[in-house]
Amino acid sequence: MAESLKVAVIGAGTAGLVAVRELLREGHQVTVFEKNNKVGGTWVYDPRIETDPLGLDPTREIIHSSLYRSLRTNLPRQIMNFLDYPFSKKEGGDPRSFPGHEEVLRYLEEFARDFQLLELIRFGKEVIRIEPLDGSSQNWIIEWKNREIPSGDKSETEEELFNAVVVCNGHNTEPKIAQFPGINVWPGQQIHSHNYRTPEPFQNQIVVIIGKGTSAIDILKNVSPLAREVHQAVRGVDFGLKKQENYDNVWQYPMIECAHEDGKVVFQDGSSVYADAIIHCTGYKYHFPFLKTNGKVMVDDNRVGPLYKHIFPPSLAPGLSFIGLPILTVPALQAELQAKWVARVLSGKLKLPTEEEMTSCVQEFYKHMEPAGLPKHRTHWLLQENLEYENWFVTQLGMPPLEKWREQLILLIKKSALTFSASTYNYQDEWDVDKWIQEVEPLQSAVPT
Ligand code: FAD
Repeated sequence: MAESLKVAVIGAGTAGLVAVRELLREGHQVTVFEKNNKVGGTWVYDPRIETDPLGLDPTREIIHSSLYRSLRTNLPRQIMNFLDYPFSKKEGGDPRSFPGHEEVLRYLEEFARDFQLLELIRFGKEVIRIEPLDGSSQNWIIEWKNREIPSGDKSETEEELFNAVVVCNGHNTEPKIAQFPGINVWPGQQIHSHNYRTPEPFQNQIVVIIGKGTSAIDILKNVSPLAREVHQAVRGVDFGLKKQENYDNVWQYPMIECAHEDGKVVFQDGSSVYADAIIHCTGYKYHFPFLKTNGKVMVDDNRVGPLYKHIFPPSLAPGLSFIGLPILTVPALQAELQAKWVARVLSGKLKLPTEEEMTSCVQEFYKHMEPAGLPKHRTHWLLQENLEYENWFVTQLGMPPLEKWREQLILLIKKSALTFSASTYNYQDEWDVDKWIQEVEPLQSAVPT
């Protein structure tokens, strides 16, 4: 008989919401802890920026979302949905295939409402401790802080026991910054993209942007019309100064070699600029300040581990699991498949391998990364293996295969992410995704439009 467990879910973003739905479908009793006062996680735009714009001060008040005001999705809405809940164009909404961020929040809010998830969420509760009771993976202490109660109040924290915990706290909040000599004496303004909201503060400035990911490119496009000059420093490229097509004031360089007290920023090809601001678009760190597992799960150089399938720590499975860790994936689809699998493992319908087998599988995975030239910090990057990973769950769960158009669209997007020069290509407006889908699979009718 299927087991019904008392499960805590941490976070009510994309991953947490779909996790609750899947856990409920499997008959578990679920409580969600969400530190914010609404659902949506990353997609809840917050115009505030943190007191330390580089995010180095551990005592700063943390703003969860990293959205900038102008953000449009970098994936088409056609693949940002949960499988049985289309991300449809709605009257009064943003009809574009790559909509603005408000549209994604609306989708998640409607999902939470339509599946009656809201009543299971304890808002304003920040989890500060997750610890196995007496080391057992079947009993977990969850301790949380009531955000509305002023600190110092005796009743500020509370705790409760659960049989299992599913961690869905997101990983786009704790900035990772570039390191170079002179970073601490350089006099200009430095911020991480986590704290970038609007271009106005950079009006008439000479700005250096570090990075070439989607945030770097979006911010470059956003800032360049107002800034005097934009200089993009890109890692792993061995070339000299390159003026960017379609822009009068944007140049690309290899990474920063060093920065000086007089405001000079020197690049690895020897060229230099005197700049006013540096924007680090250099990604994020996994961060679980609440996890007390006695070293059984650690974050080392951005590797969270050991984790079987990026989800279960072998020695604490199935009581502790993580949803949404892999990056360069299709987040909603990935979270949904992971969540279905976790829910069924917890109910006993699907069996995990033994602890030893899971551990050796993780070790095998690590061993293959080194010869493939993949450093530890890329443990959870699934750019190439994306579909292989998703399809593993599809098979385990006995689901019908993913639609062909979806698979091909994912492959196309991932290939584009590797090759296209997004700073000069306005893919969000130029791609006609619906037409493309019809061409790939003319007879399919299930695509949400
Ligand atoms: P989050 O959305 O971050 O949710 C985590 C939740 O956990 C939050 O609500 C937070 O308040 C809560 N929480 C955290 N810690 C605690 C705690 N201790 N106690 C209680 N609650 C806690 N994805 C796409 O599919 N398409 C895109 O176009 C896209 N663009 C992006 C652009 C940017 C700038 C960023 C940063 C991300 C983008 N993503 C995009 C990725 C996006 O993060 C994922 O799609 C998805 O929103 C991640 O969901 P999540 O639930 O894992 O995390």
